[in-house]
Amino acid sequence: MSRNDSTGAHSRPCQQQTTRTIYIWDLDETLIIYQTLLDNSFATKFNKNGKVAELLGLRMEKLIFKVSEEYFLFNELEGDNVAHVSLTSKHDHEANVSNIGKHYADVEKTYDKYRNNMKSLLQKSDHRSWSKLLTYMDILTESWRHLAIKSLALIHERSYGINILVTTTQLVPTLAKLMLYGLAKYFPIDHVYSATDIGKRRCFEKIVNAFGKDAEYVVIGDRIHDKQAAEEMHFKFWKVQGHRDLMNIHRRIIHEKGNNERGRSS
Ligand SMILES: [Mg+2]
Repeated sequence: MSRNDSTGAHSRPCQQQTTRTIYIWDLDETLIIYQTLLDNSFATKFNKNGKVAELLGLRMEKLIFKVSEEYFLFNELEGDNVAHVSLTSKHDHEANVSNIGKHYADVEKTYDKYRNNMKSLLQKSDHRSWSKLLTYMDILTESWRHLAIKSLALIHERSYGINILVTTTQLVPTLAKLMLYGLAKYFPIDHVYSATDIGKRRCFEKIVNAFGKDAEYVVIGDRIHDKQAAEEMHFKFWKVQGHRDLMNIHRRIIHEKGNNERGRSS
């Protein structure tokens, strides 16, 4: 899919008179538990073994960076904090950094090809190690990731719901994380934004430019800066602090589906 095609997909008209809802997800500590394994606050908050949590976090971090470097060219792109893949084409016109544009094109190709099939990308031993780490993490976090995936999957099935990711992590390791944690299926590359350099608020503005003012926007995140940026944009904000929040969000989305379908048939 070319970038132009994907931009077209943003603006495709709805078949029915239904309002599109754009769900803007944060990544760490919202869809997955990652930073708080490393800093031990997950273990403290949820009464888990801190040493085990930290070791798990460190092993995951190591593999995330290995995958970022080996397949997503992180060594070459680390100094270039682009917010969205559509902004990488600007490099095509700048001779001195034209390689960066080419690297991003390669990253996009790899992500598109393997996002639903990381097993065929990774070395066998890495895939085995990662699968074990994921299993340990799912046990330690009491299926946090699977609770989040239930909502992503529900939205993914709908023509009037769209999953978007906005994270403070740089774009390249974000793509590696999405693939490794089994979330890439729900986020095509043009639905992934990195707020590393420009902040969440400016990412949200870019998303409104892409999806229009008529859509409804919901931000789902764990931090105060997620909430503040959402409020500045007059978006709804759903806070994630624990498993119960993820379950409530899932119920809410089911309920919205009901409303939307009643709206359609009337
Ligand atoms: Mg977060």
